[in-house]
Amino acid sequence: LPVLAVVGRPNVGKSTLVNRILGRREAVVEDVPGVTRDRVAYDASWSGRQFTLVDTGGWERDVTGLAARVAEQAELAVAAADAVLLVVDATVGATDTEDAVVRVLRRAGKPVVLAANKVDDQKAESDALALWNLGLGEPYPVSALHGRGSGDLLDAIIAVLPQPRPAEAVPQGPRRVALVGRPNVGKSSLLNALAGEDRVVVDPTAGTTRDPVDELVELGGRDWRFVDTAGIRRRVHLQQGADYYASLRTKTAVDKAEVAVLLLDASEPLAEQDIRIASMVSESGRALVLAFNKWDLLDEERHEILEREIDRDLAMVRWAPRVNISAMTKRHLDKLVPALDTALEGWETRVPTARLNSFLGQLVSATPPPVRGGKQPKILFATQAGAAPPRFVLFTSGFLEAGYRRFIERRLREEFGFAGSPISISVRVRE
Ligand code: GDP
Repeated sequence: LPVLAVVGRPNVGKSTLVNRILGRREAVVEDVPGVTRDRVAYDASWSGRQFTLVDTGGWERDVTGLAARVAEQAELAVAAADAVLLVVDATVGATDTEDAVVRVLRRAGKPVVLAANKVDDQKAESDALALWNLGLGEPYPVSALHGRGSGDLLDAIIAVLPQPRPAEAVPQGPRRVALVGRPNVGKSSLLNALAGEDRVVVDPTAGTTRDPVDELVELGGRDWRFVDTAGIRRRVHLQQGADYYASLRTKTAVDKAEVAVLLLDASEPLAEQDIRIASMVSESGRALVLAFNKWDLLDEERHEILEREIDRDLAMVRWAPRVNISAMTKRHLDKLVPALDTALEGWETRVPTARLNSFLGQLVSATPPPVRGGKQPKILFATQAGAAPPRFVLFTSGFLEAGYRRFIERRLREEFGFAGSPISISVRVRE
């Protein structure tokens, strides 16, 4: 949903206006100093359009200095929102604080709607007109208390909010898959088993072995594009610099793909190179499925050892779905498509801002971040900056230790899934 941030000095009637927009009185808790509000983002709607309303008032008490804190609200709002609602007390008019906010907003170039609040009667309308001076366009006179003018204000807000994306992430064409793994794990055997020998791409000319070739393979009734399969098909075994070219090819294939299938030989100890490729894929930001091949060769003892190796060496991709297959006997090859679907779904997950913030609010009040330098860092607001893979930005009032970041990642995964996808969490600290 598009995000609207509400910015304004204390006492301009921001909370009352937020309540008015939400249409429910209980939504915003009274601002009792020292009481951490667990939510800063709410779902709102007007004439059939939904949006997320971010109440920057929730951040106020962490900062000192009035002008500074309102300017910071504006900066946060700008970073996190699609549009900004600036609330001004029309009976007071524009102060230096508003001037500072306007500078921040103008620099960011985000659309701003100006609410001239406390216009409770006809007489105060001229106060509202004075706010044209801010250079933000038409001031919308409202009385948050009485509800006056809020319809026109909401119409103006809806007009500047971006249209919701049409039908979330319609995949264009076949999904792109990179089949990767060190030599001899069975990549070409698997590709043959999946695509059939008849679709083998014939080497056109000698010396062109480094040309990438994509292959369309039908699996589970759908086409999948396996990228850069030339090297796999031809079983190129270069002597000099083989490792270098192999890893370069792996990297380019992964970069072109949406999802990687990392093939591993279950019958042998995990190799250094397996672990390197796993790390590379997890850092590439692509979805990942782990496929353990040659399962037909496994006995009980090797199986147990393998599980321990996975725990120890593949912890960085613990989130990836896993299939245990045999390219030779075709064991469990039908499990590959569900695993790919799971991974791609996790990769494209979008968490609504309001849900994300209410979840983090509860999490942080149950388990606050460790105190540093005598201060308790707070998470003020969070937003998902992008998907594929999911990327989150946390705005905080202090440094969050690596251990606490990992804790947050773990809990986000428990709550929202993201199976098969790396996720990133970046933290923006305000001093
Ligand atoms: P690539 O280098 O990763 O493409 O590996 P290949 O597909 O060339 O396979 C390497 C060797 O492993 C070949 O001798 C294959 O016959 C063998 N192999 C591949 N998959 C399996 C499997 O599922 N089970 C067994 N037992 N052998 C396999």
